[in-house]
Amino acid sequence: MRCYSCGGLSFRAVCETCKNTLFIPTTQTRRIGTLDVISFYSYTTLEPLLLTKHKPEGWRIYRELGRMLFRPFMQEFLEHDDGAVHVIGVDENVHSGYSHVAQLTHAMKMSGVHVQHGVLRARNRVNYSGKPLQYRLENPRDFLYTGKTNISAILVDDIVTTGMTLQEAQKTLANHGVDVLFALTLASARE
Ligand SMILES: [Zn+2]
Repeated sequence: MRCYSCGGLSFRAVCETCKNTLFIPTTQTRRIGTLDVISFYSYTTLEPLLLTKHKPEGWRIYRELGRMLFRPFMQEFLEHDDGAVHVIGVDENVHSGYSHVAQLTHAMKMSGVHVQHGVLRARNRVNYSGKPLQYRLENPRDFLYTGKTNISAILVDDIVTTGMTLQEAQKTLANHGVDVLFALTLASARE
């Protein structure tokens, strides 16, 4: 196959050269309400890659980003934490034949980590892009949680913008006794 970034021949969706030059993570933490949100990149760095999101082959990019970032993050996390931790993806809903978020959470599967797929679903999927904050407030995601209760979990999403979706997810989970340790996202887009 070819590298989605430079078009060169590559065994992976992103070649080693691009990985080591264009996509060096600049990990940052934002405090949103009572939630710490960790992002590996700023949105602009990843934008060229994320434009593949709605193409059928976009899953390769997400799978690769999961392997590059989310998996090593969890390996390191486990070195400092012994309790069983759960991973919950925000609305692992299928678009263009795959779920973007599920590609990221799938990469976090390892001994000591319980990934719960598809347990936090949005009942409202209106598009927030370009809409004012007020619109988001008036049209919450209205999450439905069907996973395990009384656990500690890491919340995963692809992009964080205002953080309102993550906060709403945190609140829904809290009602089910799920303590969200922090949220982990691919990229942070500030408006
Ligand atoms: Zn490349």
